[in-house]
Amino acid sequence: MNVVEVKPLISIVVPCYNEEEIIERTERTLSNYLATLVNDNKVSSESYIVFVDDGSVDNTFDILLKSRNLNSKIIKLASNKGHQYALLAGLDYVINKTDCVITIDADLQHDVYAINKMIDAYRSGAHIVYGIWKHRRTETWFKKNSAYFFSLMLRMFGVPLVPRHSDFRLLSNKVLQELSRYKESNLFLRGLLPLINLKTTAIAYEQSGRIGGKTKYTLKKMLSLAINGITSFSNVPIRLITIIGLILFFVTMGLSINVLIIYLRGRTLPGWASISLPMYFLSGVQLLSLGVIGEYIAKIYKETKCRPKYHIEVIVE
Ligand code: UDP
Ligand code: MG
Repeated sequence: MNVVEVKPLISIVVPCYNEEEIIERTERTLSNYLATLVNDNKVSSESYIVFVDDGSVDNTFDILLKSRNLNSKIIKLASNKGHQYALLAGLDYVINKTDCVITIDADLQHDVYAINKMIDAYRSGAHIVYGIWKHRRTETWFKKNSAYFFSLMLRMFGVPLVPRHSDFRLLSNKVLQELSRYKESNLFLRGLLPLINLKTTAIAYEQSGRIGGKTKYTLKKMLSLAINGITSFSNVPIRLITIIGLILFFVTMGLSINVLIIYLRGRTLPGWASISLPMYFLSGVQLLSLGVIGEYIAKIYKETKCRPKYHIEVIVE
């Protein structure tokens, strides 16, 4: 086994969006924990934390400026781009300046103290270490079930997702380099990482509830992430449309033959329902199909423009 003997220089990337209620506590918890890891000779003393303020409109940035440990950096994005892009901004910043990076949410739902186990796994040769939650006991019924439904839907459409993993993970610098070769502007890290077949492992942790503030994943953001995930990684929806189209074609052929036989026997056709119901049904299928095709075209349109994925307002180092 390839064991990394030297103390790795680690960076911890924390995306934050409107986290004023909790960010000071998060800063303190992470800084103290990093100091412990340094004291225990587990990681290099040059290790650091990067807070990515994803265009917060509350006092998150000011609080970070005041409370930050001098080793911590802050990247302030010019506007809210969403969790995935905030993560990307952090990863782009640390690439080639770190041995490995740990991404963790700002709300202390991920177990900070599990970072230790991730570093052990890295030192044993792993390039990707997924945090896998054991329980989500303290989360709301809606949160638990919507998250479950979200990952079920993605897996049904063939997106290669790691079960029970949110964005708490360790990536080696080599993974960051490989990741930077994916140029797509529709970013869904959870789906991309399994495509990089470097040595991967997982550690279990206890997922707690949010310590403060509210979830920033509204139903709208969650749906948009799901549609983005599916259309970026799977052609199944388009294929389904083709299959439904084919089935409907054959069913209609059968029905037409049936109608012809009834006509030839000189009987009148039964009434309204048999005509109007299929009409409503088919209009529905057609609209849905157009919508799905539209999603893919919109995706191609976005990719061809190659626009920058985020803009940085300021970096505090
Ligand atoms: N977040 C972000 N930009 C957004 C939404 C969320 O940077 O547009 C951050 C947020 O501050 C948190 C992490 O992403 O650190 C996960 O968000 P949240 O805890 O609200 O999601 P949940 O845990 O409820 O799925
Ligand atoms: Mg959370």
